Amino acid sequence: MSEDGARAATTVIAGVAFAVSAFAASLAALRAVSTTRDPFSSSSSSSVKTEDGGRRAALVLIAHPDDESYFFAPTVQALKRANVETHLVCLSDGGEGGDGETRKKELLRVKEFFGLEGMCVVETDDLRDGMDREWPAKTVMAVLDAYTEGAPATFDYVVTFDAGGVSGHANHVGTHRGARQWIEERKNSVVKASDVGKCPQVWVLETTNIARKFSGAVDWFASYVECLMDSRRVFVPSPSPLEVLRAVRLHKSQFVWYRKLFVAFSRYTYMNTLRRID
Ligand SMILES: [Zn+2]
Repeated sequence: MSEDGARAATTVIAGVAFAVSAFAASLAALRAVSTTRDPFSSSSSSSVKTEDGGRRAALVLIAHPDDESYFFAPTVQALKRANVETHLVCLSDGGEGGDGETRKKELLRVKEFFGLEGMCVVETDDLRDGMDREWPAKTVMAVLDAYTEGAPATFDYVVTFDAGGVSGHANHVGTHRGARQWIEERKNSVVKASDVGKCPQVWVLETTNIARKFSGAVDWFASYVECLMDSRRVFVPSPSPLEVLRAVRLHKSQFVWYRKLFVAFSRYTYMNTLRRID
């Protein structure tokens, strides 16, 4: 190779190395940004509240027994790994999809399986399970008031469905609507009281289009990059999809053939993406 050729090759190699380094540095910087907004950071120093030394606490608000396993499991896993005290509030007993008593017992087993600190299944006529039942936001708000003001914990996070409700189920959408109105009202009252710290962060589970919904782990990279680019979103991968499968199987009365297919192909088995709405 001539001297000019060698110099050109060296320049190209140096350019490629620089580009790779710059890309890696950019990703690292973006990752650093994302970890500062990640409420479930697993570092031991962030597992306690700075003001009083108590553990951080989260309320996961779902509509039916099994939502926590089919949809929110990566988030529940992340909360537990970050040593966040986690309470599950289920707005119905899922009576339309099976025997309500059986489904409550199954949910209790999942609570024990994940080692959750609290669980509550709401039973009221306003929030009866059903695809065509509109749930009044006021009732959902009253449940949130009762659970948060009963103070089993001072909640730092509320996690629930987004406006699409993952599947568009009317009860999931109603759950979101109630939670959104609840945080808006709470923020208004708290701002008046000049005590913003009392407002929990509210994170919603993002609904995707149907192709992504059933793309399983394939959606990992696109979801990861999307969340890096948006400061209001966090990417929450499951550390163990097998553990998710074991949780789903605890809902024996619901584990029929099409749900077995669902859990295998659903991206929600492998990851959650959450968006902050408060
Ligand atoms: Zn549901």
